[in-house]
Amino acid sequence: MISIDTYSFKGKRAIVRVDFNVPLDKETFEVTDDKRIRAALPTIHHILKSGGSVILLSHFGRPKDGPEEKFSLKQIINVVEKNIGQTVQFASDCIGKDAKERSAALKSGEVLLLENVRFYAEETKGDIGFAEKLASLGDCYVNDAFGAAHRAHASTTQIAQFFPRDKMVGFLMKAEIESARKVLNHAERPFTAIVGGAKVSDKVLIVENLLNIADHIIIGGGMSYTFYKAQGGTIGQSLCEDERLDTCREILAKAKEKGVRIHLPLDSTIADRFAADAVTKVTPSNQIPDGWMGLDIGTKAIAAFREVLLASKTILWNGPMGVFEMKAFENGTKAVAEAVAEATANGAFSLIGGGDSAAAVQKFGMSDQVSYVSTGGGALLEYFEGKVLPGVQAMEA
Ligand code: AMP
Repeated sequence: MISIDTYSFKGKRAIVRVDFNVPLDKETFEVTDDKRIRAALPTIHHILKSGGSVILLSHFGRPKDGPEEKFSLKQIINVVEKNIGQTVQFASDCIGKDAKERSAALKSGEVLLLENVRFYAEETKGDIGFAEKLASLGDCYVNDAFGAAHRAHASTTQIAQFFPRDKMVGFLMKAEIESARKVLNHAERPFTAIVGGAKVSDKVLIVENLLNIADHIIIGGGMSYTFYKAQGGTIGQSLCEDERLDTCREILAKAKEKGVRIHLPLDSTIADRFAADAVTKVTPSNQIPDGWMGLDIGTKAIAAFREVLLASKTILWNGPMGVFEMKAFENGTKAVAEAVAEATANGAFSLIGGGDSAAAVQKFGMSDQVSYVSTGGGALLEYFEGKVLPGVQAMEA
């Protein structure tokens, strides 16, 4: 594979597929978090400094039927300019006359942002003709959109075939792939995976695949109560997916067979209703009274998880331990973040993946104390489910 470090961008127009799908304030339409834009800066600046020009290509939201004002990338242009530190031109379409003329006239050091690529249904269909039109705008293709790497879309996958010798991954994508591979293929042992969040059904595939690679799997958050109910526990009004009880029993049996230790939270902070000011107490997680619900892991669970984490050499974390968005139920997630940080300081490699665990680590100001915080929620999850990411595969073909 060609490397962005050594490729000569001088005089070339680089089509850079980024993930600028940033959140906007619902009332003011201002960008509330520009992390995804910042993450692409090393790639953009490298190309500009090397004498190339940059054509930014991104999706934004999920427009259903062609162009819609609220999904226009025009809204974020000032934030993109501020981050890159220079004027950014805008093409009102990602293919067609405006895009063609502006990209053809682009000079070294200049940046052009194309309108939302998802204004065309051909994008999500992975249409080859559409990919060819996009490809015709530049001389080389750089994919830096790890967050979209699990989608076989025209601008993330099909476009690559039009640049047999001039395609490469950007710095963000490179770092994401390297850290994910380090955990999936070269984990130093013991390897502990922490899986949390609301639903068993969202995490079944990752847990099943982790049974083949991890030594320990810590299961916390809402999904842990289905596991307790599957073993005959009483869980009150805690989150539960009755249709997944068999799945939980199968996972527990498989883990035993394979010698993987599954750690469920011994106790829980339970509440009399789903509210920040609910009445709370701590009980064993398999003895939650009727009318109460488990919204965080308890003190015994924290101590047990901490012990496992401090003895680990590789840690993967996806999903919070409780309703960390409410102060009353953030303790478990915070304590696990602290244990992961401590293990990292002691030499472990820790990868935080997925929107909510990344948000939690950020909320507690601990992003710098772990080895890598992934920007790709769905993509990272699918990678650890054992799936091939089409956006990555297309770059290696
Ligand atoms: P996920 O997107 O599946 O990783 O789930 C994250 C969400 O799960 C967060 O918004 C948490 O508030 C929520 N969550 C975690 N633990 C619980 C719990 N015990 N009960 C209800 N929701 C939970």
